[in-house]
Amino acid sequence: MSAPRKRISVLRLGHRRERDKRITSHLGLTARAFGADEIILSGEEDSSALETWKSVTERFGGEFECRYESKPLSFLRRFSQDAGDGEPGEIVHLTMYGESWRESIKSIESDRPMVIVVGGTKVPGEVFRLANYNISIGNQPHSEVAALGVFLQSLIGQIDESKHFQGGEIQVVPSIDKKQVINLEEE
Ligand code: SAM
Repeated sequence: MSAPRKRISVLRLGHRRERDKRITSHLGLTARAFGADEIILSGEEDSSALETWKSVTERFGGEFECRYESKPLSFLRRFSQDAGDGEPGEIVHLTMYGESWRESIKSIESDRPMVIVVGGTKVPGEVFRLANYNISIGNQPHSEVAALGVFLQSLIGQIDESKHFQGGEIQVVPSIDKKQVINLEEE
């Protein structure tokens, strides 16, 4: 039996309710769609982001979780010591200043709970020090959504959506030329 997959959370630092509304929402949807188990929102509280993620999970299935964290650095300090099982968790900070993801992905522990940290406003220097890995997806400035998508795809690989996203109300049927959706509640 393959080892149980470790828990992967995404921590969004420095959310600005007005300025980051759409990109934070898309960040959580990307975390969910590419296989993370949870998104943790920090910065300004924003119930609309949490409601969006919960609603998509209800409609499309799976057990994706989301919550607000008022003290992200305290959370990271604790996580770096104890991921909840008495052992240190693994902190991956995505930043354009980091080492290449192509190199560092090879050495990442495969069995420890992980938090992937992405920024919004200026990221405190302490995040770089707390992180086990500061990883770049290229060294050009782009976006937390693109960085997370590439990193999760390389870390987790292909997801069996029929297994990963169970219990939803609807399911998309891939089509070459039209929108096709199954209403699972009528099945
Ligand atoms: N103003 C923030 C700062 O100075 O730290 C960064 C703003 S950037 C648009 C938002 C986030 O996108 C970054 O914190 C990082 O997580 C991610 N990001 C942007 N470009 C990246 C890259 N080339 N590699 C990895 N992550 C990147």
